[in-house]
Amino acid sequence: MPFSFPKLPYAYDALEPFIDAKTVEIHYNRHHRTYFDKFTAAIDGTELETQSLHTIFANVSSHSPAVRNHGGGFFNHNLYWQCMSPAGGSQPSGLLAEAIYCHFGSFELFKNAFSNAAANHFGSGFIWLSVIEGRLEISTTNNQDNPLMDIVEKRGEPILALDVWEHAYYICYQNKRPDYINAWWNVVDWEQISQHFLTISQQ
Ligand code: MN
Repeated sequence: MPFSFPKLPYAYDALEPFIDAKTVEIHYNRHHRTYFDKFTAAIDGTELETQSLHTIFANVSSHSPAVRNHGGGFFNHNLYWQCMSPAGGSQPSGLLAEAIYCHFGSFELFKNAFSNAAANHFGSGFIWLSVIEGRLEISTTNNQDNPLMDIVEKRGEPILALDVWEHAYYICYQNKRPDYINAWWNVVDWEQISQHFLTISQQ
């Protein structure tokens, strides 16, 4: 089995008070774990077991809904957890900061555009910052789709993911998604996202 369920990179309560321990525990141990289990069950004994997630998603339109939904759920949450840290917040630096300035005008303009996309996305889904043909772009996807999939409008390499499913915030914030988004900026790990950006930029 080429895929493994990743360890959460911090304790359940590490993101408090912005994201509470109960939410992280249920989200990671139940939701994320279930996506992983159902994805590995869906590809068990098939040729997809030997493919990378990038390859699987690049052809996802020809695979089963289980591969799309649970494979997406597996990957999307891997990135979502990676993009947060108790040492997060603040702003990006270096080449990523320059790229954000270049494509959005300023960090504040980027942040406002991303927050608006997250607040206005109808229903469950994810908000992304991706490298698309050399540009940084914000996009949203429904359910567990992501920018690596051949079925989405804006295809690219995602470097930042925000989960706006209600299970990501309901215990603490109930229906107030904008409050969750505002709190989330305090745990965004720009060093990690810079690493994603540099890795993709060097490909
Ligand atoms: Mn989720």
